[in-house]
This record gives sequence, structure tokens and C-alpha cells, in this order.
Amino acid sequence: MNSPYKTKIGLEIHIQPKTESKMFCRCKNEFNNENPNTSICEICTGQPGTLPAANKRAIEAIIKAGIALNCDITRKVHWDRKHYFYPDLPKGYQLTQNTTALCQKGFLEFDYLDEKGRTQNKKVLINRLHLEEDAGKDTHPEGADYSLVDLNRAGAPLIELVTEPVIENKEQAAAFCRNLQKIFRYLKVSDADMEKGQMRCEVNISLGQNGKDGTKVEIKNINSFKGVRKSIEYEIKRQSEILNEGGKVKQETRGWKAQKQITVSQRGKEDAHDYRYFPEPDIPIVNITDEWLEKIKSSISELPQQKKERFIKNFNINEDIANSIIGHPDLAEYFDKTISELKAWSASQPDKLTQKELEKLYKLASNYLTTEITKMVSQAGLQFKEIPITPENFAELMLIIRNREINSSAAQKILKIMFKTKADPSQIIDEHNLRIEKNESAIEKTVDEVLKQNEKAVKDLKQGKNKALQFLMGQVMKKSADKADPKTTIEMIKRKTD
Ligand SMILES: [Zn+2]
Repeated sequence: MNSPYKTKIGLEIHIQPKTESKMFCRCKNEFNNENPNTSICEICTGQPGTLPAANKRAIEAIIKAGIALNCDITRKVHWDRKHYFYPDLPKGYQLTQNTTALCQKGFLEFDYLDEKGRTQNKKVLINRLHLEEDAGKDTHPEGADYSLVDLNRAGAPLIELVTEPVIENKEQAAAFCRNLQKIFRYLKVSDADMEKGQMRCEVNISLGQNGKDGTKVEIKNINSFKGVRKSIEYEIKRQSEILNEGGKVKQETRGWKAQKQITVSQRGKEDAHDYRYFPEPDIPIVNITDEWLEKIKSSISELPQQKKERFIKNFNINEDIANSIIGHPDLAEYFDKTISELKAWSASQPDKLTQKELEKLYKLASNYLTTEITKMVSQAGLQFKEIPITPENFAELMLIIRNREINSSAAQKILKIMFKTKADPSQIIDEHNLRIEKNESAIEKTVDEVLKQNEKAVKDLKQGKNKALQFLMGQVMKKSADKADPKTTIEMIKRKTD
């Protein structure tokens, strides 16, 4: 059913850059939940008479993100005090950039799958990225008549990104977040792990009709890509029902309850704060010089979209697999290293491989990486930078498979042993006697035995029943402990039953 309403969605995303120290002091920027209030000082706890200083690395981190997101970089920036009272904000104000956001007017263009599974392209305009400081954390122990405040996170740097309300549906919104996460990971600015709170999303959504904009509702507390999709789905339904009955949508902030998959009202417009922003007088204006900007630009390495295009163009791997590989910068790096190994091997051979043969090898490697290796890494609870198999050994295994020295079940077995012991594949093959039997007379002996013991299947095969061929093949494999060369075996059975 076509909806009579025009959905407009904007996103506000907070990302924690991984700097050594906090935004305006030298305290360690790490959240040590077990030891509350250990990473604090007089600056981030807001003692009077202290002098904050801006963190250069945090400024460089946001500029990197701004460049990757096609933003204009503001050259003279200052901080503003945003006033409100909360127990986890000891200063009574938060330092943020109200009028001089460091990065402005950018965009992110990406492909995504629409609700019917078709690939579409979307360009999302970005209003701004600015730098601010995080607040502390309150906990309310159950049954206790007190609350606890932990200031380890207070004063940590935080990047806030605001898009224009140009997103039309949940698929675009989730794809934007996923692509953004990838960019931050490639830039090494943040791991942007949503479950760890390193990336937090807020959605604002309105349903307009008859050419008029609708009322904006904000959804907070979303901590997964699924939450982004599901909360939008829920809000569209909720607001449509109100409008269908001739009602009015209330302008308010709602919270996403992941367990119940619903949004609930948190506060209305009447509770909106007047933050009384004013420029921070204690921190000097930061000048972003041409020289500094060039230096930051030159430190940015290949971004995910460029990498994907290169993988497809140079290595001829399909788009889905390219997408899976570039999803993790460390996996992409591993793939690049494997390719170098394969190329070097080919160049060292008297008969170099043709481009087509090389591409077949790349494809084989990319398949193993996105299936077997990915599975093993996740089962072992590892990250891609911790793959225990070296790219050199992995490339060697790919060559062994290509040269039909082992069969696919042996390949799986070898891969598992390599993952566990880090041994090189030829050593494992010898130790476990896994090399394929190519000796025709040895195979022939087994084939003859199998044919003799399975007269009915032989008869069926002679009558053209192909299932019988598979059966006989299976018997030979079983008898040879999976070592008979499949190609030789199948040809031999066919010849002998012709
Ligand atoms: Zn501090």
C-alpha cells in the first residue's frame, strides 16, 4: 500500500574518537567501568580556577572525518558553553561548538538495498560535524535511596554529526549508519562500535502530507543498526495511525525500548531547554592553517568506497564479496596481502599465470576469507586483525587447492589446523597424509573393487541413471579416505561402465 505521507528522516550521531587523552585535560580517554572516578582531574571535574586546553588529536580526528565526508573545514573555531544542570555534568555546562562547527556542508553517497532487495543509490547531505565533550555516567542502584556518579567519561571528546532531513526510509537510514561506521574505522578515528556506546544514534522523523512538513519527533537511546530500522518502522506506523484518525502528532522526544520494540514519550516541547550558549573565554581560538590541513589530508589512506572499486576493477571479484571484505579494514588489509603473495608466487614461476588464472585464484581466496575464515574468527571470538594464519600461509593453501593437490574436505581440515597451530599447509598435508592420490593404477584398483561390489549401481549407470554415478563416486572416495583425485575417478568410472 502506498502511504499518503511523505517521510523525512534526519540523523544525529555521536561518535567517540579514540584519542589518548580527554578533550580538554590530560586524563586518559578510557572508560574504566570497574574503577569509577579514577580517570579524573580538576579540569574534567570542573574545579574553579582551572585552565582547559583543547586536544589537538581530537581536532585532527574530526577534520579527517570531515574531509572523508566531503565537508568544508572551518578555519577559525572556538568553543561554546551549553548550560544545563545534571548530576553527571559538574561544571554546569558542556563545551561544544555552537556557531563554528569544525566541518560543515558535506555529503555521503552510498548504495543500499531497498525494501524489495533492489540496489539503489542515495546521497545524504550532512549539515555539520562538531566537537564537544561527553558527560559522566549516573547509576541508580535498585532499592537504594541514592544515585552514583562516575566521571571517568566526563570531558571525553565526542564528535557529533547532524544530517539534513533528507533520508526517506529505514533502509537508507541504516545504510547511512553502516557506511559511516566503516569510514570511521578506515580513518582509525573510532571503532564506532554501537554496542559499546562508541557510536550512538538519534533519529528525528516527521510525516508530512499535502506538500506540508509534518511534526518532528526525536527518538533517542538507539544502540544498534537494527534499532535504527525498527524504531523508524515503529514511528512511521504510530504517526500514520494518529494522522489517519485526523489527529495531530505531538512534537516530543521519545526513547527507543529495544526489548519491547516500541518508542515511549520522554519529554515534550514545553520541557525544551534554553541552553544560553556563550563563547568559552578560557580556550584560545583554534586556527586551522593550510599547512596543518594539508598534513591531515595526506594522512588519510584509501577509503572503503575507493577500496571496493579497486577490488572489483583490479581483481574482478563480485560486488557482494567486495562489500563483505571492505566491511572490516583489517580483513581488507589481509586480502590485499594475500593477493600480493599470490602475485609474487606467480611472478616467480617459469610459466607465469595468465590474468584470468590469477583472477580465479583471487576469487578462491576471497571466497575462503568471507566464509571459512570469517566463521572461524567469529567462533574463536577474535577480531580480523588477530587472524592466526599468516597471509603467506593462506596464499600457499590457495595454491595447493588450485593445483588440486588436496580435495575440498581436506582443505577445510587443513585450514582448521592452521588456525589452531599456525603451521604451514604443506607440513600439515604431509603429517596428516592428506595429499590427493593421482596415481592412476592406485585409483584403478579401488575403482575396480567398488564396481565389483556394486553390481546394481553399475547396471543402473549403464541404463543412464546419473544418480548411480554419484553413488559409485562416493564409494570410491570412502574407500580411499577421500584421497582419490575426483576428476580421474569420475573419468575412470565412466570409461569402465561405458
Ligand atoms: Zn581530567
